Amino acid sequence: MIIVMNGKTSDAHVEKIMQKLHEMGHEVDISRGERRIVLGVIGDVKNLASVPFYAFDGVEEIIRIEKPYKLASKEFKSTTTTVKIKDVVIGGKEVVVMAGPCVVENKKQIFETAQQVKAAGAKILRGGAFKPRTSPYSFQGLGEDGLLAQAGEETGLLVVTEVMSVNQIELVGKYTDIFQVGARNMQNFVLLKELGKTRKPILLKRGMSATLEELLLSAEYILSQGNDQVILCERGIRTFENYTRNTLDLSAVPALKLLSHLPVIVDPSHATGKWRLVSPMSKAAIAVGADGLLIEVHPDPKNSLSDGAQTLKIDTFTQLMKELSPIVWAVGRELGTSAEDDLERMKH
Ligand code: PEP
Ligand code: MN
Repeated sequence: MIIVMNGKTSDAHVEKIMQKLHEMGHEVDISRGERRIVLGVIGDVKNLASVPFYAFDGVEEIIRIEKPYKLASKEFKSTTTTVKIKDVVIGGKEVVVMAGPCVVENKKQIFETAQQVKAAGAKILRGGAFKPRTSPYSFQGLGEDGLLAQAGEETGLLVVTEVMSVNQIELVGKYTDIFQVGARNMQNFVLLKELGKTRKPILLKRGMSATLEELLLSAEYILSQGNDQVILCERGIRTFENYTRNTLDLSAVPALKLLSHLPVIVDPSHATGKWRLVSPMSKAAIAVGADGLLIEVHPDPKNSLSDGAQTLKIDTFTQLMKELSPIVWAVGRELGTSAEDDLERMKH
């Protein structure tokens, strides 16, 4: 339930209603704007049915949210959440591209990739150090050595990398700018709750058989712990089609934007499993309103230790970035840091 109060309501009057809600056993999330003060009442609100909230000073509107997720809902917050890390804003006007190898293999590979994806316009470097591989016999990642190799100071790029379990949060948090929760961990509720206690952005990938409601409920786990920096990621779902690795559910992007205020990005690499499909689906993702892309790029995909078949070579990625510019502009967004930057990119 959401209680909207007039922005000029005195602290004492806000406190009165907060006290009432606490007495009735509810936690309250408060956000103060100039025009309105919004109290988000979390949990089962049945016991509040008979409370005459309109009798409290300052109360303008009571909104009962029927959806099972509250903090993630559009009713709770109508404006898009922006996730800001240094000078990069996800969910704003700019479409933010995150690129890099599936897995960090060595210092040279990650450094070379970082420099080149940066030159092409990527703002965030992706690369796994702890990998959730389907087979226990596949390469599992370099662990801390991978995190170290990826750390951004030398490249100037921000870093996103996966955290697979609660006991990795501290270590991964030392190196990364964004915690990635992989598809297989989307419903690892213990992990989500612990990540909710951190204050770093979380890139939450949709589980391969998860509905949008389940994805938003997973986001709710993070939000309900006080971390409002959540980025949703559509990465394909499992269907009967097996030509592609997964089926990219592009309708998830506008649907999530109707349901939620959280930014939404698309991972066309894991969604398709085929590098030839990555560029067309990236363009489609931007056209339907994605706030960013997560793309696998490697200097030599045929020798990549993981997911080579879906990985772009650097020059294909650079070409994609050029081809994305007009689409980004057509939907009223930006790709580079300035209009000149984008125009320049389009010319080449
Ligand atoms: C990844 O992005 O590194 C990854 C493993 O993807 P997903 O969790 O979507 O399978
Ligand atoms: Mn991968």
